[in-house]
Amino acid sequence: MATDRKKRQMPLGLVKIREFNKENLKTCGFQLICHVMQEFKKEQNKLRTYVNEILHSIFFLGIIHEDCLTPVDILNAQNASAEILRQEFPEPFGKYKSHLPKRTPFSILLDIMQLTFGTKENIMNELCSLMKRLKFPYPLDRPANKNQRYYTLESTVICVCSNSRCTSQEYFGASLGCRTEKAKSIMIYSSCLNTWHEYVSYAVMSFQHQTKGDSLQFHESMQCQAYIRDWKENTYKERQPCMNCTRLFSLPEGTEQEHYPYGNCAETECLSKLLINDQFMRENTEIRNYTTDKMDMLKDSTRKLLQEKLASIPSLSYINNDDLLWFNPNKGPS
Ligand SMILES: [Zn+2]
Repeated sequence: MATDRKKRQMPLGLVKIREFNKENLKTCGFQLICHVMQEFKKEQNKLRTYVNEILHSIFFLGIIHEDCLTPVDILNAQNASAEILRQEFPEPFGKYKSHLPKRTPFSILLDIMQLTFGTKENIMNELCSLMKRLKFPYPLDRPANKNQRYYTLESTVICVCSNSRCTSQEYFGASLGCRTEKAKSIMIYSSCLNTWHEYVSYAVMSFQHQTKGDSLQFHESMQCQAYIRDWKENTYKERQPCMNCTRLFSLPEGTEQEHYPYGNCAETECLSKLLINDQFMRENTEIRNYTTDKMDMLKDSTRKLLQEKLASIPSLSYINNDDLLWFNPNKGPS
């Protein structure tokens, strides 16, 4: 287990990787904030909620990182614009230690891209050039080289789904753009409790807690395609679903991709959005063994796991474990 590895003294190579990851998270967080602030200047009313949410999400991932990065670390304290940012968006600064995010920074960025660029082709092209412009480093996300999965906040895989009866409405999802096991677990538990559609949450939790999980079966009009960013060519390429998603959502032909937890993939987020927004799909999706009692039981177990994870992070002592709170980006300054 990962904890055993930590207890041993870290060899020099790992120390360097840790330092490199820390710097990556700081620079990627800072770059992403600079980008959304530029966009915010153009579209203040449309983007205020998203900027509020993305700031909170970046600060939260920073503070739960093993080096406990504060907003001051990420924003580069000398920078005068940090104070302007705090005045314009006081809520994320006040709540990053006490409130949970509902999604990762990249998922929020994807929403901003959809708002600005509309269609799938435009969004993917613009995302590729944005990632290049922000100089996000290559994440080296290979199973054989787990120690070198660099922390960049980028979700390398995105997914688009729709109902073939109404293809003009596309839903986007991103894989979890946070690299550590602890951050991934927290985001998945948090999303099961308070972000995803209840069917998606149910399926993910059932596969986490039971030896045999309960799959969703979508209506045949559901269309879903994932894309991975090819870093060398800087384009998105189609990608088959993994075995986990095949099991969760009854998707065809999964490829083996063993080390990700259930709920990590981009499919989860976009299929959840489809269910939330498409009544036909909601009414025509089958879910095995679903009862409200079972759902309550799974949620209780997930809440306990989330509380345990949060309690193990000293910098989060402000979180009240008996009464978990989620950040509400719609609320203005109080
Ligand atoms: Zn998957």
